[in-house]
Amino acid sequence: MQNRLTELEMEELSGHLMRAGVQLPGCVSVVWEPRIIDSGTLGKFRWWRPDEIALGGDASMLEELASTAAHELTHRTQFYRNPLIYFLLSMPGLREITLEREAKETELAVDLALGKSALNDGSDT
Ligand SMILES: [Zn+2]
Repeated sequence: MQNRLTELEMEELSGHLMRAGVQLPGCVSVVWEPRIIDSGTLGKFRWWRPDEIALGGDASMLEELASTAAHELTHRTQFYRNPLIYFLLSMPGLREITLEREAKETELAVDLALGKSALNDGSDT
């Protein structure tokens, strides 16, 4: 079950990201996908839908989810940078030290910019 974020929710999320220096591209749609949380993460990027990121949680968590969104946007950038390399680096063992490392750095930078501690480990996919 998926619902797009409303225009207001998109504005709020975009505002949080902007405060942290991250641009939410206009072509990216962001959808709510509450079940993501069941898999222990707050966000998801899927290469077969590269212009969409999914977030768990709800509208009351948008500030907290900004760093998760930034994490998933980083995966989108990685994919578009070079899809073949993205797939190669997705292999178990490589992913954690390449794709995930970069995405987690972005996530942490957003958390810090928004004045949050690094307690939230956010998403890992
Ligand atoms: Zn990730």
